[in-house]
Amino acid sequence: MKIIFLGTTGSYISKTRTYPSILINDDLLLDCGEGTTQKLLILEVINTINTICITHLHNDHFMGIFSLLWYYWINQRKKPITIIGPSKIESTVNTILKLANTPEDMKSCEIKFIELHNSNEKIQLDVDYRVICKKMVHKTLTFGYKIVENHKSVCYSGDMKPNENITALANNCDLLICEATFPDKMASVAHNLYHSTPRDAAEIASKANAKSLALIHISPMFSKLIQKFKKQAEKNFKGNVIIPNDLEVFHI
Ligand SMILES: [Zn+2]
Ligand SMILES: [Zn+2]
Repeated sequence: MKIIFLGTTGSYISKTRTYPSILINDDLLLDCGEGTTQKLLILEVINTINTICITHLHNDHFMGIFSLLWYYWINQRKKPITIIGPSKIESTVNTILKLANTPEDMKSCEIKFIELHNSNEKIQLDVDYRVICKKMVHKTLTFGYKIVENHKSVCYSGDMKPNENITALANNCDLLICEATFPDKMASVAHNLYHSTPRDAAEIASKANAKSLALIHISPMFSKLIQKFKKQAEKNFKGNVIIPNDLEVFHI
């Protein structure tokens, strides 16, 4: 399984990082923050995307959908695209398209929505993936995802404060991609805002027996502390810890 970190920032976009999006095997996206379309163009894989899994409807995690759909429709894409996300994603996307005065006859391909309501939903996509979703603990309805292909699996937390579901979801995964918005010393701020720290991510990875841990969604406020974030995670997790840059590739 090939994983490319398209966007890795938390809080706000910086000169070097755009909003969260992770590309699996050139055809599935985990989140689609602003900046995703351009990253897909840089990688020359924009036309191979089939499925977009959205963790939650905070603007940094899904607003890239609109420039991507616009690209597809102007370029006359015919193949349907599947968008999976929390309940209300269909009406939210359609309302924004309407408010942006998107002409109905522009829409050259169909969007198939799959809305998630409860924890423990399992979706078998046409392609070879099994998608397992569990509810996270965040300010708004949020789902973490586990993507399983053959015997390999990657798990993505989205935004959350530590909870039992993420540990269960990440059980024995090859890679846990976990948010770490704030440093360890700001744990109480992180948890009050429904976010996590490197220590939280490491403890989850450790309990879940994940092989590797990638920290993303680090706020640019802490860009000088990246190495510290890595050390903080390594203190509590014996596996491999990475803090990927945008466009970094990881194989499992
Ligand atoms: Zn976020
Ligand atoms: Zn959020």
